[in-house]
Amino acid sequence: MIPHVVIAGRPNVGKSTLFNRLAGARIALVADTPGVTRDRKEAECVLAGTKVLLVDTAGLEEAAPDTLPGRMRASTSLAVENADLVLFVFDARAGLLPEDHHFATWLRRTGKPVLVVANKAEGRGGATAAMEAYELGLGEPCAISAEHNEGIYNLMTEIADRL
Ligand code: GDP
Ligand code: MG
Repeated sequence: MIPHVVIAGRPNVGKSTLFNRLAGARIALVADTPGVTRDRKEAECVLAGTKVLLVDTAGLEEAAPDTLPGRMRASTSLAVENADLVLFVFDARAGLLPEDHHFATWLRRTGKPVLVVANKAEGRGGATAAMEAYELGLGEPCAISAEHNEGIYNLMTEIADRL
């Protein structure tokens, strides 16, 4: 079966931008409003020679399941359950927020392979900001800028290496 690569993280870190970048098309809706991606979006794509099913998720948020954020979280849980690799995306400019730590802990408990992706790490200082994520204990963070197309090929090879 084609490996599932699931993009997860709190709202507004750039998951859908990364999805579009990796899928090579503007499929997912990107917006300045956090949590605007209501539905899971999937695309088959080839990353560094490896065919994967890429899955964009709505932002992970703590909420009651009968609210919209709660349902978004449930769909994210389902996507992660089916994942062969989870890309845990955080905003390197904002740094790790309590929400990021919370969901990193949640992800660790799922036992799924996780690759930490430090997005918005464009330009000088980007790689340094990314290093903060070592403290998550989820391995070496991969510094990228989804919007400015930096570090994307390296990320693709990191993904392919883990499948
Ligand atoms: P999502 O909620 O995690 O799916 O985040 P989106 O992909 O919708 O992006 C949220 C905001 O972050 C948008 O305004 C994007 O343009 C912006 N963004 C995404 N990637 C980058 C990046 O690499 N650098 C910067 N500076 N902004 C980014
Ligand atoms: Mg989104």
